[in-house]
Order: sequence, then structure tokens, then C-alpha cells
Amino acid sequence: MGNLRFDVVQDAFKKKVLDVTAPAMRPSEYFGELVFNRDKMRRYLDAKVFDALVDCIDNGCPLDLSTADKVAEGMKVWALEHGVTHITHWFQPLTEVTAEKHDSLMEYDRKGGMIESFNGKSLIQQEPDASSFPNGGIRATFEARGYTAWDPTSPVFIQDDTLCIPTVFISYTGEALDYKTPLKKALKAVSDAALPICQLFDPAVSKVHSYLGWEQEYFLVDEDLYAARPDLIMTGRTLMGHASSKDQQLGDHYFAAIPSRVAAFMKDLEFEGYKLGIPLKTRHNEVAPNQFELAPIFGECNLSNDQNQMIMNIMNTVARKHGFVVLLHEKPFDGINGSGKHNNWSLGTDTGTMLLAPGKDARGNLQFVTFFVNVLAAVQKHNSILKASIASATNAHRLGANEAPPAIVSAFLGRTMTEVLHKLLELPSGTPIEIAGKKETSVGLVEIPEIFLDNTDRNRTSPFAFTGNRFEFRAVGSSANCAGAMTTLSGAVAEQLIAFRKELDKELDAGKPLEVAIMDVLKPIIRSVIDVVCFEGNGYSEEWKKEAARRGLDTETSVPEMIKAFSTKTSVEMFTSLGIFSVKELEARNDVKWEMYSKKIQIEARVMGRMAINHVIPAALSYQNKLLENVTMMKETFPESYLEKAAVPLEFIDLISSLISDIRRKVDAMVEARRKANTLESEYEKAKAYHAIAESLLAIRQPIDKLEEIVDNDLWPLPKYREILFIN
Ligand code: ADP
Ligand code: MG
Repeated sequence: MGNLRFDVVQDAFKKKVLDVTAPAMRPSEYFGELVFNRDKMRRYLDAKVFDALVDCIDNGCPLDLSTADKVAEGMKVWALEHGVTHITHWFQPLTEVTAEKHDSLMEYDRKGGMIESFNGKSLIQQEPDASSFPNGGIRATFEARGYTAWDPTSPVFIQDDTLCIPTVFISYTGEALDYKTPLKKALKAVSDAALPICQLFDPAVSKVHSYLGWEQEYFLVDEDLYAARPDLIMTGRTLMGHASSKDQQLGDHYFAAIPSRVAAFMKDLEFEGYKLGIPLKTRHNEVAPNQFELAPIFGECNLSNDQNQMIMNIMNTVARKHGFVVLLHEKPFDGINGSGKHNNWSLGTDTGTMLLAPGKDARGNLQFVTFFVNVLAAVQKHNSILKASIASATNAHRLGANEAPPAIVSAFLGRTMTEVLHKLLELPSGTPIEIAGKKETSVGLVEIPEIFLDNTDRNRTSPFAFTGNRFEFRAVGSSANCAGAMTTLSGAVAEQLIAFRKELDKELDAGKPLEVAIMDVLKPIIRSVIDVVCFEGNGYSEEWKKEAARRGLDTETSVPEMIKAFSTKTSVEMFTSLGIFSVKELEARNDVKWEMYSKKIQIEARVMGRMAINHVIPAALSYQNKLLENVTMMKETFPESYLEKAAVPLEFIDLISSLISDIRRKVDAMVEARRKANTLESEYEKAKAYHAIAESLLAIRQPIDKLEEIVDNDLWPLPKYREILFIN
């Protein structure tokens, strides 16, 4: 019998490095080539139409249909030059992958021929059948229609032969069925809330932007090895697999030279990304073997998130050209690091001030501290839903599993900012405070060093860390849509800023100067955040779990329970008062989350059961037969002493039998548990039941991994960790 696994591994190992398709041009020459950006608008739209569209993008002014027709006409001319034949509304339903339905541009010309046609109406709105997208019961079957509506703030782009129009996706009755709609509402809320505070410092400010810079981690696996693992194909992760003798313990992968086949993939990916206007900046090896990261230059949050979704889509297309498959799952391999997507987040004014970076002067620093402290207060108040916003069946493998992030949302400030907060508290009340920057003569009491990025400590165990000019929300999962986390964070911050401004107005009305008033409102907040949400220690430690519970932070570790936090009064008040979600939308979203959780675990459980019965047990039995043959022959050859001579095979025969029965018993119990879970009506109850099933998968895995350790290597049908993780 030939060993299939051996052949597959040989094929994978012998793959050649492909030539990269990027032309000999500079990236700056083709950057944004496939995006209908300002430059294209200028070239393809007449001046009046250009002005109207820019006004719509920058100031939210509505676009009338005849102008939209002209915009569509300009887009069409540009698109046809690039060989476009189809258009699609591109949206982000709650399935966690983007959706598109292509329509050809072909129309009858009413003269017996065909022409390419594209008008304002089909640019602005489409009506896809919404019935097959998750909606959490919002959609009754008789009103299955959903609308996609153009988001002009995110530019139209070309993928292959299709013009893609970024859109929001809402139900017939107006509820959001996607990630983009609430994100846009939350970004507006935080801008509106921050504005009246910024204007106290600079009346010229008219808008506050949210910025996002994501760091996308991923694994690359050879496609031949991938194809031989049903678990990877079906669930995106390995459900079984004994640890490799060597994995990440030497730390020799992190930042090491990029393997050549991987480097070719990265260059091709960057080429595709640049054409789509995605400002990819960083590429490197990550901690685990065959784990990598890419990150762009940060940008406006909604756009940057769209770009993350775009790059997640094209990663796999490009990878296949190089014989790889990209794994975006948070935990494809047990026992080594999983993948996250750090969300670097900050706020900035349209006048160019970064609000979470130390200012140029005393006033700038006061503004910085104001925003800094209010963000901490928001994270403190809403730590439960921030955790819920990143909770999923797949991210559950990272959460609380002694790996970034812990299942408690706290904030890490670093030594400098911790000292600054303590010093601010020591000031006698009513003292006008100035916080001096480096460039000015120091008149204040607290110095914030100007160069400060380099002296922020790194605390890898913190889910929400200040890194000098931004906060880094590290708990987001690698497969997630960043919008979930960004919507929640923005809403929380918006609510806090509104409350702060209200308190501040009372102090100002009492006649206090601005500096005094701000500090008087900030001080109790500082005291509270230092005591509760700020934590500089080891987020993985047992002591922290106890301490965090004592401080009143949410320490829940079960994903179905975490999700419930969205329904608490605190959460509902925040989201509804800001108009980000209605009560109905919140309830529907929870149902979708629970449903997705259950379904993902259901799939894993089915795959696990089938692999155990169809792959693992047969391999174990084959080996056991070999051992039995050995014992029989021993007995024939050495009738007297065979028990002693065949001691090892006998021991293995026994062990295999007991491991096989263990697997069988556990799989049966798991199937039974699934049967019960499936009868539950409530999505929450079902998710809870599937949470228990998820734990039982770990128990099934143990005897399987044990078998992998003892069964003849030639008979093991599944590529092993040492192969999947080290061939590239
Ligand atoms: P590290 O791995 O050290 O955290 P990276 O350079 O890999 O840093 O990624 C940092 C990300 O943070 C990049 O996307 C970068 O553009 C982004 N970033 C930098 N400054 C800001 C900021 N003020 N607001 C939002 N994102 C930022
Ligand atoms: Mg980072």
C-alpha cells in the first residue's frame, strides 16, 4: 500500500517559487489604479458633478438622481477602459464574509443591438434577496427584500471584470443587516460627540475622524497538505494533530528571513493591494511557524475596514497562485500562537490634530489628556460589550486561553502615562493646570516627553493598550470584521464624551476657566479608571482574574454568555440613545451571533466525528492488525517466550483498543449532545449547549492525538503538524 501522505508531503516540499507578476514600475505609479478615487473623479466627471460628489463624500450632502446618473456614466467610461463587463453592490452581511451579486452591464439598445449601460439608480440602490443572509428574525419571509445602498465615502473599485460598489445592507423595514451601517452611525456619533470638546480648544475644527490601522495575522499552508485535511477545508482549523517536536519554542520564526515562496506571495499580494489603493506597509514573519502578518498605513476607519475586507478576499486568490492556502482562523493549530487582528485606533480633527497623541504645547496636551481619560472611562464602563464585540466561536480559542487576549478587557497605559495620571491627581484642586510639552518652557507640573513612541512599554498580555499616539485593541480576531469592535468602541467613547461635555458645561457655567473646569471633571474619572480598568501587570495570571472580578470587570469566559452583555441596560441605553442600534436590531444581532456560534461548532463536531471514524480509527486498526500479525508470528516462532518477546506489541495492541473505545464512546456522547442541542428553540440556549459540545471536542482530541503518537507513521493518513507548519 502506498503512503498517500508521504506523496503529498513530497509534492508540497518540491513546489517551485513562482515569478512575481508585479511589473517593473514603481508601486506609486500603479497605486490606486483600480479605484475610482479623486484623481479618477477629476478626470472622468465634469466640474459640477465632481463638486457635487465631493460635497456628498465630505459633507454628507445628498446626491440627486440626475447627478448620480452622470457619476455612473463617468464610472462606466473608466470601467470599460479596464475591461469591466459586470457591476456588483459589495456589502458586508453578518456572515462574516463579503457578499456580491454580479449583474452584467449589457442592455438592449432598443435598436436591435446591445450596449453597456450603467445609471445612477443602479449605482445608488439594489434589491438583493435578503432571505438567505443572517438576520436574526428581522425579516419575515413575506418581506424578504433587502436593500443595498451606495456608501460614497468608500470608493468604487474594480476586481477582475467587475465594478464593485461598496454598500450598506438594510432590510425592507430599515434595520441594518450588515456591519457597515452601524459602523457608519457609530463613527458619526463619535465625531459629533468629540466636536464640541475639540472646539473648546480650536473653533476651526468642524469634524472628527476615527482612524484604524489593522494588523492582519494569518497562516499559510501548502495547498496539497491542506487538501488532505478535511478539518482545515471544512472548519479552517485542525481539530486534531499532535504537537510537533519543534514549533515556536526557539523563537526562530519571528521576524526571520521570509521564505522565498512566501515572499513571492507577499509581493504579489502587495501588487494587487496597491492597485486597489490599499497602502500596505508592513510584512513579516510572526511567532508561530508559517504564521505571517501584514499591515497598512492607518486610514479613516470605515475605508480602512473596507480595505481589510478586500485584502482578506484577495489573499486566498493570490495564495492559490503560489500553491498556498491562507488560514484566517484565530486558532488553526493547537499549542502554538493563534492569529489576531490588532485594531490600532485613534481620533483626529479635520484640522490635523491627533487627539490621542501628546500635543505640541500645554493646551494641546490638556486636550490629549481629556480624550485619553475619557477613552479609558468608556472602556471601563463598557468593558463587557467590548469583549462581546470580539467574541466568536473561533476567537474563543484565544480568549482566556493563556494567549492574547485574556478574557478580561483592561487597559494598559505604560509607565509614562501612568505617572502622568498619578501626578495630575496630586494637584491641589482648583489649580489651573498646564501640561507642558517639550518644546515650550516647562511651566506645568507634568511633563509628557515629546518623543514618546519609543518609551511606551509593550505589554502583550493587555487587550487594550496605549501605544504612544493610539490605542491598540488587540483582542479582535483575525477572521473578524473589524467593524464589530470599532462600532462598539466608537459608541462607548461617544457616550462618554457627551457625558463629559455635560459635566464640563456645569463647571464652565459656574464661571471656572476652561483649564480648571476640565481638570475638576477629569479628576474623579482618573481616580476611578486607575482603580478599575487600568492594569499594567500580567493579564494571563490567575491573580489578575481574581483582582479583576474584585474590581467589577467582566470575567466571563463563555462566548454565549459574553454575547448577552449586549442586552444589558447599560448597553441598550448607549446604543439606542446614539442611534447606532435599535432594540430590535440589538436583539436580532445577538440571535445571529448565537446562531453563528452554534453552527460553527456543529460543523466542527460533525467533521470531528467523521474524521475520528473514517480516518483515525481505521488507521489505528491497521496498525493494530500489523501488531497482531507480529504477535502471532512471535508465538509461532517462539512458543515458549513469545509473551516476553512480544511485550511491546501486546502493550500497544491494548493501548490502541482502549484509545479506540475511548474515542468511540466520546463521539457517541457528542452526537447525542448535538441531537439534544438541536431541539432547543432559543438561540441562546442552543449556543450554551454547543458551548459544552465545543469543550467535548477537546476531550475527543486527546485519544486521537495519543494515537497519532504511537501509530506507524506510514499508516497515518493526515498530514502532521511538523509537515503543515514547516513546509513553505
Ligand atoms: P506594531 O506591530 O509595533 O504594533 P505595526 O507597524 O505593525 O506596529 O502596526 C501599527 C499599525 O498602527 C499600522 O497600521 C499603523 O499605520 C497604525 N497606526 C499608527 N499610528 C496610528 C494612529 N495614530 N491611529 C491609528 N492607527 C495608527
Ligand atoms: Mg501592534
